[in-house]
Amino acid sequence: MGRQLVAFLTGAGISTDSGIPDYRGPHGLWTRHPEYEKLATYDYYMTDPEIRRRSWQMRREVFDLRPQPNAAHRAIASLADSGAAAVRVITQNVDGLHQAAGLPDRKVLELHGTTRSVVCTSCEARGPIEDVFARMDAGEADPPCSVCGGILKTATVMFGEALDAAVLLKAGAIAQECTVMLAVGTSLQVYPAAGLVDLAAAAGARLVIVNATPTPYDDLAAEVVREPIGEALPTLLQELRRSEA
Ligand code: ZN
Repeated sequence: MGRQLVAFLTGAGISTDSGIPDYRGPHGLWTRHPEYEKLATYDYYMTDPEIRRRSWQMRREVFDLRPQPNAAHRAIASLADSGAAAVRVITQNVDGLHQAAGLPDRKVLELHGTTRSVVCTSCEARGPIEDVFARMDAGEADPPCSVCGGILKTATVMFGEALDAAVLLKAGAIAQECTVMLAVGTSLQVYPAAGLVDLAAAAGARLVIVNATPTPYDDLAAEVVREPIGEALPTLLQELRRSEA
């Protein structure tokens, strides 16, 4: 039997233990402060310097919490490191915590981009977000691109922007090739996450759902786990490693 390809589809629920605010949940940042959603909406962002100033401040506030990977991120990285299975992570999160836990960049597909980098909306020059924070400290509330003077933004997919087609294509291929798909901390209610589960299930993958609340795919799953992710996932992955040994 060939080595398993284990695909993880991760959402906000895997990072809440790391102190990353959940954006859309019942107590989420955008649920409590609907005006914050404007800060991540492309049209508002591009046309209003005040929105950009507040958007950078919001990013700064999350960054200053110094979120660290938690037991769930570490368990996934450890599975990949063990070589017991081939591992790919498709994430809806923009926090970079899978890589911070030690998972190589090439094994992580970030559907909504990343806040670790910034990109120029004119010339597409990229750089680390720390550079923007340093310029904010030096007095620039909305630092322009140092190459061309264009508007900088985080390398995230904002509202009103399309997902990266190449990333989506790769995610679809992984969903079709994986032998196991674990959907972790995602309610599976929005595209493309839901579509990826459909693809994996149709291709015969074993589906495991680890989420605090019911999802539309629970009936399709071989296993549904409601326990806290930081406790449940390390145990699940230990079992998976033993079954491969
Ligand atoms: Zn530029």
